[in-house]
Amino acid sequence: MKDKDTAEFQDMLAALRMLGADPAPGASVGRAMARMQTTGTADRPSWAALQRLERENELLIDHAEMLACALGACPNCWGTLEDCEECGGVGRPGAFNPDRTCFDHFVLPVIIRVLGHGPTETSGA
Ligand SMILES: [Zn+2]
Repeated sequence: MKDKDTAEFQDMLAALRMLGADPAPGASVGRAMARMQTTGTADRPSWAALQRLERENELLIDHAEMLACALGACPNCWGTLEDCEECGGVGRPGAFNPDRTCFDHFVLPVIIRVLGHGPTETSGA
């Protein structure tokens, strides 16, 4: 197996264990994959659902990090961990200079809307 295949197989085995479907030693990869691809039950999500959740989690982490940079906060803890390795616990929003590109993307449109200067806002409302 290539390294990537091995890593994927290990991920699948970990997912199976998490789902309570611990394969017996020597179980075939095909049977294990077939079992994982079945639809989920009420208390166990399907493999596809787990993959979707993983992608959503990665997206949310990316957004949280970009928003932290836009607000000048520690992307690791937002100033909530006293022993944060990145900021030592001082990284609340405004603690650092905001990243201008992220600020313009995430924060500026909100400020413009709140102030009523957006292109779709009516003046004097
Ligand atoms: Zn921090």
